[in-house]
Amino acid sequence: IIDVRDVTFAYGAVNVLENVSLAVNRGEFLGLVGPNGSGKSTLIKVILGLEQPQSGDIRLFGKPSSQFRAWSRIGYVSQKANRFNTSFPATVFEVVSTGLYGKLGLFKRLSRQDRRVVYDMMDRVGLSTYHKHLMGELSGGQQQRVFIARALVSQPDLLILDEPTVGIDAESVDRFYRLLEDLRNEYDLTILLVSHDIGVMTAKVSSVACLNKQVHYHGDPEAFNARQDEILSRTY
Ligand code: ATP
Ligand code: MG
Repeated sequence: IIDVRDVTFAYGAVNVLENVSLAVNRGEFLGLVGPNGSGKSTLIKVILGLEQPQSGDIRLFGKPSSQFRAWSRIGYVSQKANRFNTSFPATVFEVVSTGLYGKLGLFKRLSRQDRRVVYDMMDRVGLSTYHKHLMGELSGGQQQRVFIARALVSQPDLLILDEPTVGIDAESVDRFYRLLEDLRNEYDLTILLVSHDIGVMTAKVSSVACLNKQVHYHGDPEAFNARQDEILSRTY
C-alpha cells in the first residue's frame, strides 16, 4: 500500500531523512516511533505528497505518488490537527461531514445514509452527546476525537495518524485502539500510526518501525519488545 524507497529529504541544508526505505503492506498496522525531530511527521508529509523529497521513490497503492489521485482512499490526522484555532463556528457534525467531501464532492447534499454514517462515526469515537456542539465548546481531547472521526468517516483503505492520542485520557485511548481493531476486523484497513507512548502502542500494532533520519528497526512488535533497549539506544 505504501512503498517508500531510498528517500532523502532536507529542509534547506538540514537533512531530515537519509535513504529511508519503508514498506507498509495491506492490512498491516504499523506503529512508527522515534525521538522528537527524528523525521516522523516529515516522512508522513512526503508520503502524502505534501513535501517533495530530494531523491527516492514513493508508491501509493502501487502507483508512483506523482500519479496517485485517489486521496479519498487515505484518512489523515495531522499532528497539528487540534492545535489550529478550533473555535470556528462549525459543529461537530459539520466537521466530521467534511471527511466525506473527498468522496462526494464539496457541494453534494448528504443523503440520509451519509448522515447515518457520520452519526455512527461520532458515536464510535465517543462524541454521541456532542453532535450539535460547536468545535469551540469542546475540550482538546474531544476536538482530537472529532478529527479522528473525520478521518475515518469515508472508510479509507489507509489511515495515517500522527500522534492521534496526545491529550486523550487513558480510557479513551483504550477505546480508540479498540475502535481501530474493530475497523480492521470489519474491512481491510491499513494503518500507519505515530506515537510516543511506546508501551501502549507496541501492544496494539502488528509491526513497529523506529526512525531517526534512517530506519533503525522495522519488524514485529514481539521482537521489538525483546530487543527494545538495544534498538532504542541506537535510535534515541
Ligand atoms: P516530533 O516527535 O516532535 O513530532 P518528528 O519526528 O515528527 O518530531 P519532524 O516534524 O519530521 O519530526 O521534524 C524533523 C526535523 O525537521 C526537525 O529537526 C525540525 O526542526 C525540522 N522541520 C520540520 N518542519 C520543518 C519546516 N517546515 N521547515 C524547516 N524545518 C522543519
Ligand atoms: Mg511529529
